[in-house]
Amino acid sequence: MDLKIKDEILKRRTFAIISHPDAGKTTITEKLLYFGGAIRDAGTVKGKKTGKFATSDWMEIEKQRGISVTSSVMQFDFNNCRINILDTPGHQDFSEDTYRTLMAVDSAVMIVDAAKGIEAQTLKLFKVCRMRGIPIFTFINKLDRQGKEPLELMEELEEVLGIQSYAMNWPIGMGKEFLGIYDRFNNRIEQFRTEEEERYLPLDEDGELAVDHPMKKTSYYTQAMEDIMLLNEAGNDFDKEKVLSGDLTPVFFGSALTNFGVQTFLETYLQFAPTPQPRNADNGEVVDPLTEEFSGFIFKIQANMNPAHRDRIAFVRIVSGKFERGMNVTLARTGKNFKVTQSTQFLADDRETVDVAVAGDIIGLYDVGNYQIGDTVVGGKKAFNYEKLPQFTPELFVKVTAKNVLKSKHFHKGILQLVQEGAIQYYKTLHTEEVILGAVGQLQFEVFEHRMKNEYNVEVRMEPIGSKVARWIENEEDVKESMTGPRSMLVRDRYDQYVFLFENEFATRWFQDKYEHIKLYNLL
Ligand code: GDP
Repeated sequence: MDLKIKDEILKRRTFAIISHPDAGKTTITEKLLYFGGAIRDAGTVKGKKTGKFATSDWMEIEKQRGISVTSSVMQFDFNNCRINILDTPGHQDFSEDTYRTLMAVDSAVMIVDAAKGIEAQTLKLFKVCRMRGIPIFTFINKLDRQGKEPLELMEELEEVLGIQSYAMNWPIGMGKEFLGIYDRFNNRIEQFRTEEEERYLPLDEDGELAVDHPMKKTSYYTQAMEDIMLLNEAGNDFDKEKVLSGDLTPVFFGSALTNFGVQTFLETYLQFAPTPQPRNADNGEVVDPLTEEFSGFIFKIQANMNPAHRDRIAFVRIVSGKFERGMNVTLARTGKNFKVTQSTQFLADDRETVDVAVAGDIIGLYDVGNYQIGDTVVGGKKAFNYEKLPQFTPELFVKVTAKNVLKSKHFHKGILQLVQEGAIQYYKTLHTEEVILGAVGQLQFEVFEHRMKNEYNVEVRMEPIGSKVARWIENEEDVKESMTGPRSMLVRDRYDQYVFLFENEFATRWFQDKYEHIKLYNLL
């Protein structure tokens, strides 16, 4: 491989930020982009959404709800690395796209609100990262406010998430009394709200403040030193291998809003964050990013970014080699070979045409309905598929019909396409073949309804049937319809497999006790 391209690939760091809404993801993203010079003024990420694409009906949903429907991709350079941040929707109405975005990154940054600790959505996203075994870095935010005790937060990480942790730094005081962080990794104290020239104080070989400073006399300093002694004696050791295998999370404390500790976090993170990682193909081969041939997979398809054209954009994570505009690629699923003339790159919500991109990068390909989620594209003619993306267990369900029965053909066509695109999951009842849609977040239904109307000209009626516990069945042949009831509905999924939709966890257990021989399982 060309040395220059190899060098480019090894510069890539591709990650997602995971958090519960309001933990500070947008704020920290702005600061990161600001360091990278990608935005002039930290504080424009949110503003942009109402700018350029304001007329788009897609964005209309975002505007109405004041949330981000889709994950965007941001790229910037810092310390000789090229960083790709894949954003994940932060509202509780997040969707399967959020999960799938985590399939396209090499590491994750988890933001935790110091006052709230681990929250529901963080836990869900964490589990997906954990399943992939990718490194997870933790930033505990809002130290400028009173929060939980740092030791308590560390304990919570280990107990709730079941991951080992190592504090890279430690807060000295908190809230109004926040003095700074004791940086175990860089052997210094970083003072809060202090000019850059005076911000860093050195430590002596015993790990004590090496200079005479008023901070030394405070109880906060004494407390921090006691905590650190405890961590040194009883805490985990820092272990790079464990970080890379996702078994130990390095923990950083800071305050995104006041831009404190964010740069130190970024610098340290970049020392350990993985370069683009290899990926398994379904023929058993492992494809190295430094392989000459271009290859990648589609993890997301987004429609209607441009209101003037009803186009879609397929997001491709490049796994190996180099992508060049105008190159010939083969879509593995169909074997079709074609020239890619239109490709986009994503930079802080601005779309630019991309001419060259390499392994680790995300590109957008214009799509007129050729691509599906999980598709593999390969340069040249020899095609293979990457391992299938996991399917996620939906939690919310609606029964859906066309308001106008004469539109039934369009109705089914629309559903088929949106299901293939991965926008929503499809189920049908056994004999009556009524259509049931499943989703991870409520927003998916709204997007479905909106798109059916605008793209397929079909108004739909949706009847919520609430949240259900969906379970697939290993031994389908043993299932009998007599096992169903008002609390355990039996349906088929889009692959014609049986799925039980239980009313709740209780109904699931009750069923399992009664029919022990039925082997239920859930997707991710
Ligand atoms: P997101 O929903 O995770 O993207 O969270 P935002 O970045 O929008 O932040 C949610 C709220 O928390 C906003 O009002 C922020 O100004 C505030 N916030 C973010 N970081 C900090 C911080 O370090 N300290 C304090 N006090 N507030 C913060």
